[in-house]
Amino acid sequence: MATPALYKPFRTLLIANRGEIACRVIRTARAMGLRTVAVYSEADADALHVADADEAVLIGPARARDSYLNIANVIDAARKTGAEAIHPGYGFLSESAEFAQACADAGIVFVGPTADMITAMGSKSGSKALMEKAGVPLVPGFHGEAQDEATLASAADRIGFPVLVKASAGGGGRGMRVVRSAGELAAAIISAKREAKAAFGDDRMLIEKYVDNPRHIEVQIVGDSHGNLVSLFERECTLQRRHQKVIEEAPSPTLGPAQREAVCAAARKAAGAVNYVGAGTIEFVSDGHEVFFIEMNTRLQVEHPVTELISGVDLVEWQLRVAFGERLPLAQDEITLNGHAVEARVYAENPHKNFMPSVGRITTWRTPAEDNGLRIDAGYREGDSVSPNYDAMLAKVIAWAPTREAAIDRLNRGLEDTDVRGIVTNIPFLSALVTHPDVRANTIDTGFIERELTALTPPGAPPGELELCAAVAAILGVEQARATETSPWQSAGWMPVGRRQRVFRFRQSDSEHKVTLVYGSGPSQLLIGDRVLAFAASYGAHGDFDLTLDGARSHTHAVIEGHELYLRTRNGRFDMHWVDPFGGDDEEHVGEDKIVAPLPGTVVALLAEEGALLEKGAAILTLEVMKMEQTLRAPFAGKLTSLRCKVGDIVQEGVELAVVEPSEADPE
Ligand code: ADP
Repeated sequence: MATPALYKPFRTLLIANRGEIACRVIRTARAMGLRTVAVYSEADADALHVADADEAVLIGPARARDSYLNIANVIDAARKTGAEAIHPGYGFLSESAEFAQACADAGIVFVGPTADMITAMGSKSGSKALMEKAGVPLVPGFHGEAQDEATLASAADRIGFPVLVKASAGGGGRGMRVVRSAGELAAAIISAKREAKAAFGDDRMLIEKYVDNPRHIEVQIVGDSHGNLVSLFERECTLQRRHQKVIEEAPSPTLGPAQREAVCAAARKAAGAVNYVGAGTIEFVSDGHEVFFIEMNTRLQVEHPVTELISGVDLVEWQLRVAFGERLPLAQDEITLNGHAVEARVYAENPHKNFMPSVGRITTWRTPAEDNGLRIDAGYREGDSVSPNYDAMLAKVIAWAPTREAAIDRLNRGLEDTDVRGIVTNIPFLSALVTHPDVRANTIDTGFIERELTALTPPGAPPGELELCAAVAAILGVEQARATETSPWQSAGWMPVGRRQRVFRFRQSDSEHKVTLVYGSGPSQLLIGDRVLAFAASYGAHGDFDLTLDGARSHTHAVIEGHELYLRTRNGRFDMHWVDPFGGDDEEHVGEDKIVAPLPGTVVALLAEEGALLEKGAAILTLEVMKMEQTLRAPFAGKLTSLRCKVGDIVQEGVELAVVEPSEADPE
């Protein structure tokens, strides 16, 4: 096959991705003077990355398989717009050798390694075989071709339980199951294969020894087409939930200088084994003493910004320079480590409901200014919709400081100053995580989040005096701004006539709170129970105001959406419902015996038959929602009287999927 020039200068770059990474690539490409082309699905016509790019092309329906993963459509979009290069971002086609080859065949520069390198390193099994040869330390395991049940079972026995069953094509922790005994193996393989097939179109599995309580350490490398290859230090990504990273930092607080050099040298050796070109990451698990290679990612990673902040290198710029055919701008000894950086991934998900993805319209989106070592890489803005079709990551908050302590403090402040409403986010969970003493002390492992989940997801604290007064002040501020037709929050005080009273009621969880405002001539007062508080407020911009109670002033922040109030006071975050005295507060009642789809999804398995007698918690069916499998279970012991869906059904949110009739003995 004639090999077209793989790396050559170009002027127009198509970004074959969406969300924050598409926006992030566009930012650097534009700074380098390139023309940028976005692609989008029907669900993303109004998305931020489309608005950010110079041009945008519709490449298909919402389903990723028909749009962002459709190679022919992406190549066609490049042809139509005269794009000479394609940056794949991460996820989607970024590790598809077929796509890299299709680009090369079309004479388009793929911003990444060649198809051969992806094939060699992109599969976990293939790369482990290569690394074994190159002498890079590996986790003991089976990474052969055979996939029959007997081979996998005997491999697991030989390795010794616990083992990790892993999709060879995997990413994002999908298609991966920890198996603690031989009896659990077959079921784990079936479910991992199903998840892998759906997510990657490839269900080959490998089996590894499960390293107990490991740390995750990875090294950023970049190679050019002239044979230069450098490492840009390591990141530690030990804070994970279900094998998916939540917080990442650089450098690793666990390694000393000698260990750092050793792991970076191992990574250069690993990438050197395939004469790697482009940005890549070599991932290791560590038992605290040694590191073991687990995989190479032949693309930019989600967590690349922490490396950028400690090295001063723009990795997307380097990727593009390498794609132009240039040499790497710096040699290994010119790359220096400065300070510490930490990143938190902000997701649309509900930590109180098993991290179930949350979809809908973002009604409020406020992030702090990017300065003082704070960086926000976002893929959404106010008014955007979070669709169930894609990954639920909204943004990354990244902080840099000279020391780890200070970087964590700055990150926490950045999270506290971020307000996203309309959908549920994991922001309070992230705050709880970065302020946890064990995280501060770095006495963690990859199982930390799972073990500490209860402490990390505390139920909302009941509002105190300060919060109830702040809630009244926030409502008055909005009412007054409306009344004077100035922009909200801009004016101070209000002008009532005579001495009057007004009662406010707020609900949080199951409790109701009453606050009485006494106003008119003379200073205003708030009555809570038998307490009387002198009260004043002065309003700033964007929901910020100062509340003065009995002479003590306190800074407060509020977002009001209809009757929902979201407050930030010095005591933390509080969600409250303002009970409207004029009604309009009908509660929604969902019959408990009906199993309804919590989100739009696809039915992938039926796990019980109609007529079956179920224990409380018994699995009824599995739904694939946002690429993750969710099993719906019996809410109480009873009979499955009706199953109203079949495998393959695409169901909308709230649709009734099954009915369980409580058994007499256990009505609940
Ligand atoms: P993915 O590509 O889906 O992210 P990885 O192979 O990178 O999958 O693994 C993700 C995470 O799972 C790792 O960061 C680590 O925490 C955990 N993990 C992977 N392999 C092992 C192992 N052999 N033992 C213990 N934990 C592991």
